Amino acid sequence: MLKPQKKLEKVLIANRGEIALRILRACKEMGIKTVAVYSTADKELMHLGLADETVCIGPAPANLSYLHIPAIIAAAEVTGATAIHPGYGFLAENADFAEQVEKSGFAFIGPKADTIRLMGDKVSAKHAMIAAGVPTVPGSDGPLPEDEETALRIGREVGYPVIIKAAGGGGGRGMRVVHREEDLIEAAKQTREEAGAWFSNPMVYLEKYLTNPRHVEVQVISDGQGNAIHLGDRDCSLQRRHQKVLEEAPAPGIDETARAEVLARCVKACVDINYRGAGTFEFLYENGRFYFIEMNTRVQVEHPVSEMVTGIDIVKEMLSIAAGNKLSFTQADVNIHGHSLECRINAEDPATFMPSPGMVKHFHAPGGNGVRVDSHLYSGYKVPSNYDSLIGKLITWGSTRDEAMARMRNALDEIVVDGIKTNIPLHRDLVNDEGFCKGGVNIHYLEHKLANQ
Ligand code: ADP
Repeated sequence: MLKPQKKLEKVLIANRGEIALRILRACKEMGIKTVAVYSTADKELMHLGLADETVCIGPAPANLSYLHIPAIIAAAEVTGATAIHPGYGFLAENADFAEQVEKSGFAFIGPKADTIRLMGDKVSAKHAMIAAGVPTVPGSDGPLPEDEETALRIGREVGYPVIIKAAGGGGGRGMRVVHREEDLIEAAKQTREEAGAWFSNPMVYLEKYLTNPRHVEVQVISDGQGNAIHLGDRDCSLQRRHQKVLEEAPAPGIDETARAEVLARCVKACVDINYRGAGTFEFLYENGRFYFIEMNTRVQVEHPVSEMVTGIDIVKEMLSIAAGNKLSFTQADVNIHGHSLECRINAEDPATFMPSPGMVKHFHAPGGNGVRVDSHLYSGYKVPSNYDSLIGKLITWGSTRDEAMARMRNALDEIVVDGIKTNIPLHRDLVNDEGFCKGGVNIHYLEHKLANQ
């Protein structure tokens, strides 16, 4: 591996919770100084005690703190930070934020603003992918026209069922499945109205609705200097309300020819759009074929499973690229070794899924060979009610999927989070579920299982 030539001096971490701690650890390993920002609800966050400097950026509501761009830029100014890492969520995929960060003279640890904009609009993202030869879901080639005759013709050509999606959509919102031609016009109208209200962009498009797909995604890293690599794929099919619950790498039982082809296409697409940083191409996978749905232009919650099977530290690589270095390794250096699983631990009622914030009376982290815990929890920490309920990630690695699964069962037996409700019982159930243990379940599996309990 090449030794990085340039190094960032001081990184402001524009996030909270486990990912802020994850980024801080990577900075410390690389000898980079850190600035942690926090809201008044977050004074007890673990990484604040480990950062070189801390700045309070506002009150508890995220729009007044973690989403408040002037407060974050000002914090970077006063501390002399040289770069900003957005983590995931909050401002991570906000092109205006990336632009303002760079215009203010800081490095944005992620893609250029124009790339975030291109991929943030799902219609333009799909066009870019088609141009790069990445397979997409068949559908309207661009926005669905308001003209009824044309819209009906497109629906007929694609074939029912279809799904109408907002171009600016995200978080599983702004989508509507249509089973019959007579419902198309009304569904398009309703989705347009919702999209206008939620995403300030009424544009919608139409896709074939795949009935039993899996969610398989590809992790890439690209230096924006002509070099791109993939770190293999992940399966994130276990979802509830389009939210991922448990992920794994590599995706089990994928057709090897289709896999090799899609991985190569993703790398080529990165080069074509001159992508900079870490990113994820999300696909639906059905009957041995991949269909692109969207690209996430940031580090993802589930990135550790790819790190565990490749030995590559994705966050450190992001920091190195943002300093202006080329990729520190080539595709030939990437070997997928063994299998990794990740359980997202949420502060929520395992039966009703209602958030369950409050005081963690006692926290005990599991351990042992092949066990990794990415969490900001400690005994006595109070989980605030203002933010996402993710309180940690339990990750295991094994030389085989069965070994990773056995280690996850042990880790879930050992972990103790007392005082608040968590979804640990759900995970204990899942790692013993016959269908999941076999591998390759589709995106409806978890919801069907929950509905039948
Ligand atoms: P978002 O950005 O809101 O997450 P995505 O485009 O990634 O939206 O889609 C979210 C989820 O919706 C997918 O993981 C899948 O479960 C479902 N979905 C999206 N498009 C289709 C499709 N064409 N066929 C079947 N399911 C789909």
